[in-house]
Amino acid sequence: MAKIAINIATGSLQKEEIIVGIDLGTTNSLIAMIHPESKQPIALKEHDSSSLVPSIVYFDEMGNAIVGEEARKHLETEPQRTIFSAKRLMGKSYNDIKDRANFFAYKVIDDDTESLVKVQVDNKFYSPVELSSFILKELKNRAEHILKTPVTKAVVTVPAYFNDTQRQATRDAGKLAGLDILRIINEPTAASLAYGLGLKKGENTTIAVYDLGGGTFDVSILQITDGIFEVLSTNGDTYLGGDDFDHAIVEYWLKEWEITEEELQHNKLAQGLRLKAEEAKKALSFNDLYETEWNGDKLSITKAVFESLIQPLVDKTIQCCKNALKDADLTIKDIENIVMVGGSTRVPLVKETISTFFNRPVFDKVNPDEVVALGAAIQADVLAGNNKDVLLLDVTPLSLGIETMGGLMDVLIPRNAKIPNKAGRQYTTHIDGQSGMRISVYQGERDMVKDNRKLAEFNLSGIPGMPAGFPKVEVSFLINADGILMVKAKELRSGIEQSIEVKPQYGLTDAELEQMLMDSITYAKDDMKTRALVEARTEGEQILGVTEKFLAKNASLISKEELLTTASAMQALQMALTMEDKDLIHQKTEELNDISRPFAERVMDDAIAIAMKGYKI
Ligand code: ADP
Ligand code: MG
Repeated sequence: MAKIAINIATGSLQKEEIIVGIDLGTTNSLIAMIHPESKQPIALKEHDSSSLVPSIVYFDEMGNAIVGEEARKHLETEPQRTIFSAKRLMGKSYNDIKDRANFFAYKVIDDDTESLVKVQVDNKFYSPVELSSFILKELKNRAEHILKTPVTKAVVTVPAYFNDTQRQATRDAGKLAGLDILRIINEPTAASLAYGLGLKKGENTTIAVYDLGGGTFDVSILQITDGIFEVLSTNGDTYLGGDDFDHAIVEYWLKEWEITEEELQHNKLAQGLRLKAEEAKKALSFNDLYETEWNGDKLSITKAVFESLIQPLVDKTIQCCKNALKDADLTIKDIENIVMVGGSTRVPLVKETISTFFNRPVFDKVNPDEVVALGAAIQADVLAGNNKDVLLLDVTPLSLGIETMGGLMDVLIPRNAKIPNKAGRQYTTHIDGQSGMRISVYQGERDMVKDNRKLAEFNLSGIPGMPAGFPKVEVSFLINADGILMVKAKELRSGIEQSIEVKPQYGLTDAELEQMLMDSITYAKDDMKTRALVEARTEGEQILGVTEKFLAKNASLISKEELLTTASAMQALQMALTMEDKDLIHQKTEELNDISRPFAERVMDDAIAIAMKGYKI
């Protein structure tokens, strides 16, 4: 039986479950969805309040978490219990952030510098994942309150430079908040979608996304081909943003109005001054002068002064743009569209400077602090199947690879790689005259194929007789837009080839998929050990084989004594190979190597000597 829900807010029938888009920002977060009637993305907000929820969590004396505007009020008065910028801590160890430890006004635990950081408030410890989950939970509650319907599914954005750990941490935060995160997408990708970039079939364009938020700046160069977004480069400064603009104004006032230390010692007054500075900055986006009163004094600042104060900061972002272009191997004229993201791009000087630098108008019509969430909502709509014209910007849920020596998994296409995709790698034989090669295709995150899921297997046969290591077998993986994987193996010297088609996700439920990912984390340490052992064994076996062959061929060049030491080293290695000790195997491999290397060099010398004889100088 199909479930039909009624959206109480709009009164309309809701056939599909709602999937929302969430921008989990460093400074502000918000939630958006496609309006069921207008089909346009909208940011959710309660009547006459802002759609932005400050990404701040305040813990009261009872340990209750309060999120957003309410929490912000405690920022300066109770810094120890008011956590801002938790996003900066996602997937980080204390070592990763220690150079910036002063930035965090609350207690970041530093006694274990290697593990993931935690924040301490009173006698409670919070991981960045938990802190982010409080923000997500607040957004979810808000949305449910506004829509009067449960919200459980979301697309969440992360910076393009987030690594796998940080993306996973974001997913975990969603889970803790009771949200099923269907997809994590890059913030610049979402912003482009909000401008309709990448939504047309056959579209091919190169764009720059310039994102200046509250405390961070990044610029990404994206290549959009047929609905696929590829990040060519990213650059930026994770400690540069609108807060620095506010700070510059505060500094200016301190100097010009001779505000005393005493006045500033007063917490409330200092906070008031910072808030006035932010107000001034925002006002100067539309006016030429800002005037106010503070602690009985008149304060003012003109647009011209403000611009001179922030010019060096804006210049810094231009340098980042230059670096990003360089890393992408592109020049200004290769960039066809520029998308402005982040509240701080409202500052006219920022817009003008960027437009002048790229020598073309910038996209700035969509509200810059909502644009990422709106794009996430568009992606969510595509996932919900409501927008059939659009190619699904899909990624591989699990890594795809083949079995190599010793039963190891060799990944060709990693998890979360975009679809369609192709990848290839060359392999060779390890036995002389080997005429066939078995290609076994697996899916999963574990290091040993036996722990992963076998998708297919086929034989590349008819390889002409060649010494081991001579054939060049190119194995290529190609996933098309429907997620169908085509595996091809081709021996390049002879040209023989063989291929097979597989459906990687076929028969895997979400729960199984999740289990496979969880296992890969649980067993990561064991897997690393097994992999190291298998690799040591493979190497040991190889050198044994080579030495044997060498002895059979070149016995005449080796003295009896040498033969004896070699034989005993070989025996020792053979023994080690039967044990589970990779260090011992390494050691015995090295010893045999040390003994046999001089022989090989000697044979080389002879070969060169023979060759030289043929050429009369
Ligand atoms: P983040 O992506 O880091 O969460 P946002 O994109 O929400 O941040 O940007 C927040 C920043 O934008 C703050 O520093 C805020 O002061 C600034 N901002 C918002 N509106 C304006 C405006 N009208 N003029 C200048 N700066 C603004
Ligand atoms: Mg942002």
